[in-house]
Amino acid sequence: MPSHDFMGTTMDHDAIVIGAGPAGLLAATEIAKRGLDVLVLEEHERVGEPDHCAGLLSTSGLEQLGLSLPEDIIQNTVSGARIISPSGHAIMIERARREALVVDRRRFDAWLATRAENLGAKITTKTKVREFISKGLTHKIRVQGENTTDLEAYAYVIAEGNRCRLSGSLGIPTIEKSNKYPAFQYEVSNVDIDEDIVEMFYGRNIAPGFFAWIIPIGERRARIGLACKNKSRLRLDAAMQHHKIIAERMKGAKIDRSMGGVVIVGLPIPRMTYRNIIVVGDTAGIVKATTGGGVILGGITSRVAGRTIAEALAPGIKASQIQQYEKRWRSLVLDELRMMYFAQKAISSLSDKGLDSIIRDAGEYGLLDTIRRDGDMDLQGRVIKKLLGNPQMLLAGIRAIRYINPFL
Ligand SMILES: Cc1cc2nc3c(=O)[nH]c(=O)nc-3n(C[C@H](O)[C@H](O)[C@H](O)COP(=O)(O)OP(=O)(O)OC[C@H]3O[C@@H](n4cnc5c(N)ncnc54)[C@H](O)[C@@H]3O)c2cc1C
Repeated sequence: MPSHDFMGTTMDHDAIVIGAGPAGLLAATEIAKRGLDVLVLEEHERVGEPDHCAGLLSTSGLEQLGLSLPEDIIQNTVSGARIISPSGHAIMIERARREALVVDRRRFDAWLATRAENLGAKITTKTKVREFISKGLTHKIRVQGENTTDLEAYAYVIAEGNRCRLSGSLGIPTIEKSNKYPAFQYEVSNVDIDEDIVEMFYGRNIAPGFFAWIIPIGERRARIGLACKNKSRLRLDAAMQHHKIIAERMKGAKIDRSMGGVVIVGLPIPRMTYRNIIVVGDTAGIVKATTGGGVILGGITSRVAGRTIAEALAPGIKASQIQQYEKRWRSLVLDELRMMYFAQKAISSLSDKGLDSIIRDAGEYGLLDTIRRDGDMDLQGRVIKKLLGNPQMLLAGIRAIRYINPFL
């Protein structure tokens, strides 16, 4: 159905969102909420499938997104994380409140879709956006569902995940290949783990440049995964068999299913708007480089993108108003994302001895107290800054620098 008629041009929709992941759906919700006609296009048959996520979301982040999840999406709640060094030293990062929920991402995404539809968004699945076709200063898109058709809107949101195919075709900056790490994950049952603690395993031998994780999902089940520069599946299989602690946890485990994906460990792209288009979520690199988690910060910023588009559409599309988004996302998350990126770079440049030294001495120089007091799963920049301002921490850092990885 044709949408509003501004200045004599009738469009198919006010806005079209490409990709029904959390970023696209949250942007669409904001647009629909304001009475505009928004269409979400998703190439897969079902929203949320196939999934590629560990499902760990901070309770504070969900609150910030204004999301109160129904019970059937929540698989578990966790109160902290155990960080395990290459030689097996462990530190516990635990706070009084229930720090995070573990969700079923298939159900989470499907629920976000229903929520968006209830507010008026239209979602069409099994429909892939093939390309943007330039039309003077604006665009239409070529869409392949049962048939191939062209659609046109006043504004577009690109939320295509980490592939960045469409954004790249428009000359919008994309995430560097070297900042995309392959990830692999199993869902396992019959494991021997703490049911409310996430475990993160660091070390060059296990996961060079990143880490392996065990996330409990209740009733002796867990997601065990690993992301790193290469061979993530091989390395995960090896860790499950040979790593002192992981192999112990996995003794007798049954693999129920597996999934692969990509985590992003870089900085956000420097420009997220182009004419009447905004790029959001993983496509924009709005991801915590320290963990690859992108649902919360990607969601927070894509809501702002949706609002920016709705404001721009009120009097008739003005590209200049869409560009406002650049200022908005930067003021919300850029400092945080930068701090996490530098922390990730520092961690991944340490050799196993350096990591051991930092983790072993963490209690001594107040790292744990600072994290317990000021830590936030999503906004880690504040705590990283505090740690760097602590002279003892700086000394420990210098001590660890002796072990900077000579092979990098
Ligand atoms: C193994 C693993 C574990 C992770 N664990 C966590 C975690 O615990 N917590 C966390 O916060 N993050 C985690 N992440 C990251 C998280 O999954 C992403 O940050 C998040 O999914 C990004 O959301 P998005 O909406 O930007 O993209 P996506 O969720 O990737 O959604 C993009 C959607 O766009 C669709 N699409 C793409 N191109 C087109 C097209 N041309 N036409 C139509 N549709 C298209 C895709 O089918 C997809 O549905 C994990 C990632 C991996 C790989």
